[in-house]
Amino acid sequence: MVADNLHTILSQLPSGVRLVAVSKFHPVERLREAYDAGQRLFGENRPQEFAAKVPQLPADIEWHFIGHLQTNKLKLVLPYASLVQSVDSLHLLEAIEKWGSDNDRIINILLELHLGSEETKHGLTADEIRSVLNSSYPNVRIKGLMGMATNTEDMAVVEEEFDRIETLYNELKETYGLTELSIGMSDDWPVAVRHGATIIRLGTCIFGPREY
Ligand SMILES: *Cc1c(COP(=O)(O)O)cnc(C)c1O
Repeated sequence: MVADNLHTILSQLPSGVRLVAVSKFHPVERLREAYDAGQRLFGENRPQEFAAKVPQLPADIEWHFIGHLQTNKLKLVLPYASLVQSVDSLHLLEAIEKWGSDNDRIINILLELHLGSEETKHGLTADEIRSVLNSSYPNVRIKGLMGMATNTEDMAVVEEEFDRIETLYNELKETYGLTELSIGMSDDWPVAVRHGATIIRLGTCIFGPREY
């Protein structure tokens, strides 16, 4: 089933859009099914679960971290993540910079734009993003922007939010060498692709519903 879901999605995905299989809450057996079907890019959103899964799966998997990250959990995530998509505060950005400097590493990140209307969604404002891009973080490489639309069936709302992040991305990408726009989840990914997504993050439509 995981293999069928993956193949269906991949057959509709334009080239140049990468699919992150969001495997949070699913046991490693399900991730292995996706791996056996050819998937090599996975995303997790909880530090402990992420650090526990990585050593149980093949080493050629590329891992993205996509969840809220507290600064006391960096060591669970930064050694293994090829991209931290969810840098949602200046405090976190500065802590990642310090960790990178202390550990002689350059950490690839996306800046998360506050997009949805839910209060629980973390993120930076457009002005904070512009200001970060004009500052120097030698141990951080900013690859692009990430956003999560409001959780709603009203696709006009989602459309407006993706339009907003796409416009900001287009404003900044050449000047700052950004190459990644991560938008789109199971319910809205076709809209995200129309708005220039280079990365989509799908959980439910690959693995089925999560059991919390
Ligand atoms: C869980 C999660 C997803 C995937 O959500 P689905 O609706 O299951 O596709 C995508 N992005 C982030 C940041 C998530 O936390």
